[in-house]
Amino acid sequence: MQNQRTTTEWRELDAAHHLHPFTDTNSLNEQGARVITKADGIYLYDSEGNKILDGMAGLWCVNIGYGRKDLPEVAKRQMEQLAYYNTFFKTTHPAVVELSHLLAEVAPEGFKHVFYTNSGSESVDTMIRMVRRYWDVKGKKDKKTLIGRWNGYHGSTIGGASLGGMTYMHEQGDLPIPGIVHVEQPWWYKHGKDMTPEEFGLAAAKWVEDKILEVGADKVAAFVGEPIQGAGGVIVPPSTYWPEIQRICQKYDILLVADEVICGFGRTGEWFGQQVFGFKPDIFTTAKGLSSGYQPIGAVFVNDKVATTLAEGGDFNHGFTYSGHPVAAAVAHANVKALRDEGIVDRVKNDTGPYMQKRWREVFGQFEHVDDVRGVGLIQAFTLVKNKATRELFPNFGEIGTLCRDIFFKNNLIMRACGDHIVSAPPLVISKEEIDQMLDTAAKCMVEFEKQLK
Ligand code: PLP
Repeated sequence: MQNQRTTTEWRELDAAHHLHPFTDTNSLNEQGARVITKADGIYLYDSEGNKILDGMAGLWCVNIGYGRKDLPEVAKRQMEQLAYYNTFFKTTHPAVVELSHLLAEVAPEGFKHVFYTNSGSESVDTMIRMVRRYWDVKGKKDKKTLIGRWNGYHGSTIGGASLGGMTYMHEQGDLPIPGIVHVEQPWWYKHGKDMTPEEFGLAAAKWVEDKILEVGADKVAAFVGEPIQGAGGVIVPPSTYWPEIQRICQKYDILLVADEVICGFGRTGEWFGQQVFGFKPDIFTTAKGLSSGYQPIGAVFVNDKVATTLAEGGDFNHGFTYSGHPVAAAVAHANVKALRDEGIVDRVKNDTGPYMQKRWREVFGQFEHVDDVRGVGLIQAFTLVKNKATRELFPNFGEIGTLCRDIFFKNNLIMRACGDHIVSAPPLVISKEEIDQMLDTAAKCMVEFEKQLK
């Protein structure tokens, strides 16, 4: 059916009826949307016949790569068997049981329980409600405030957008909601000028302690952070940061929450980002790589302490019609199993991840306006800077990044500009040859970009 229309017709109908997320509608309608019609492996194809290398795995989610034949089969079988039933009111079904069992196997020790959602934002909102419920049950009803970070991204719902630290989101809709405060992000390049990264990691963690003391430890429920800040620009914290945050949370009796929506399911070469940085949260949120985008599903993992307390409280009055949807659960199960049994996560850890990190630094380190070249596994970034020697950023942060991103795009390579951070997170099935090809194209784009700056 979709091939019956021309690109122009699709664009016109899209402009007439479709409101896009995070998009300036007028500028979109002037340009016309790029119409993606199919995908395979790490490549997308558009309606005009272009083959595009997807260096972002969609929105950091298609971990297993596009075009798998087994996942649609699983979905079809599950739809025929049991297309829908809910998990409210003391009911369950085999697909959700199998997924929960598998997730307990791949999760770090101590995480045996999950709560299902349909997205990362819903996972974050669920977590906010869980954290507050946890302290209610503990008889500490005043412990309600959550601490997030500036430039953190935790989704678009009112809770998620409030907890996130994107001021351009706060400006629309009177956010954050009460009970959410923020501290500065652990961005050494900008904020750690005279310190070693290790010193800065401790200093950045101290900002969290200062905020706890300012709010009052008896009022703080949780600290929440992405192990590596994704949409904030792939900010990889110094090694000292997370262990110190863990120590501080323990000292003041505050729950520690990791938002693993991007880092989870192999992106860093470990199953979860917390394993890279050596800390143990009480709760962590996931979505994206859980199904590699083949179905909308998210999951909130809770440790035994939180699971026991929630159970002691009786009813947890929270849930979605599609929590643990059978088709999404079956597809997620097949996806996670393949990520494990086909050695895809292991390969990121031992082979393609280290290769990408080495080549990424070699290729981009040589450019005059590129600095802080960084990454772990298959998530990486660099920052466009005016002056490397003084670590001076460009004015109007984001303007230059967009210019650079557009050059990649014109050359059929998708990378993303988060401000002036250029970031990439390709499907985890990318091969070394494909990494070379991606970086060759990117290097040519950077030459063009620096020419345009002159
Ligand atoms: N948390 C993090 C760390 C994310 O990166 C995202 C999305 O990019 C979300 C939450 C929200 O996920 P979703 O867009 O599925 O609601």
